[in-house]
Amino acid sequence: MNNQRIVVTGGAGFIGSHLCEALVEQGNEVVVIDTLLRGNKIPKHIFKEVEFHQVDVTDEESVAKISKGADMIFHFAAILGVDIVADNPIETMEIEVNGMQSVAHAATVNQIDKIVYASTSGVYGHLALEKSVDEDILVDPCTSYAMAKRYNEIYLASLHDEKGIQSSAIRFFNVYGLRQDNRMVIPRFFEQAMINDPITVYGSGDQTRDFTNVKDAVKATILLSEKVHGMEIFNVANERESTIGELADVIKSMTNSTSEIHHIDAPKKRYDYEVGRRYGSSAKLERFTGYKPNTNLQDGLVAIHDSLRN
Ligand code: UDP
Repeated sequence: MNNQRIVVTGGAGFIGSHLCEALVEQGNEVVVIDTLLRGNKIPKHIFKEVEFHQVDVTDEESVAKISKGADMIFHFAAILGVDIVADNPIETMEIEVNGMQSVAHAATVNQIDKIVYASTSGVYGHLALEKSVDEDILVDPCTSYAMAKRYNEIYLASLHDEKGIQSSAIRFFNVYGLRQDNRMVIPRFFEQAMINDPITVYGSGDQTRDFTNVKDAVKATILLSEKVHGMEIFNVANERESTIGELADVIKSMTNSTSEIHHIDAPKKRYDYEVGRRYGSSAKLERFTGYKPNTNLQDGLVAIHDSLRN
């Protein structure tokens, strides 16, 4: 994809910033909408190339004005991180629902007929207990965050039926990589290990996640954006399960850390969010794009370690 005018909401965030970087490098005109409440993760040399608006995605009028003339909107703005979301369930849902409403309005008034939306593998809730999940199974969102994301997927389907706006909703599975902050487990374990503080594994550490490298997640996102047709939902998963206990061991040994590994109870507010297993199938993504994430977790962790050391 090149020479497109593309709006990215949440473009200064973790996945958003990697997405902007890739879109700029492909020769697109990138317009970022972000509050900067969590800082700006866009590398300086890329930031110079984007048109930046410090605007809240729920500000319907501004978002519509900024989006004029765009070919596509990537809607990646969200409140994120279990602890923050659990502390602010209403605000989380308001930003999801009103943010999507605002993006839909901008698309409608500006005749933009393509939206790519960052949904979440959280919509599956506890369903991965038996097998890796694909998009066809009934979802079971059990948090306000996941419910709001699911609501938006359904809203996008109705936008397609009623207004012909085409979209892809992407259910990301535990995306990790450079510039992620320690709200998420991988940067948190690195931070703890590198200062030889205890590494805090919640519970037994037998819970699993399917860690997807951000570079792969962005590649999948861009490939999907080139194929937006109708309204479709896609998993973007690495299709490999790792236990959190193993993750702690790997990060400890990679960093030559003297940290102890502490098994502690997860904070109470996390209880609704904690699922014993989460791993997904990217078969549908591969069917549509010929691609699926393939960075092995060990290589992804080495890249993070290298960047943290320098
Ligand atoms: N986790 C942990 N210790 C921490 C932070 C997280 O053991 O200090 C575990 C958490 O219980 C979960 C996994 O790491 O099973 C991933 O947590 P994260 O918040 O990164 O993402 P989630 O999958 O919960 O959305």
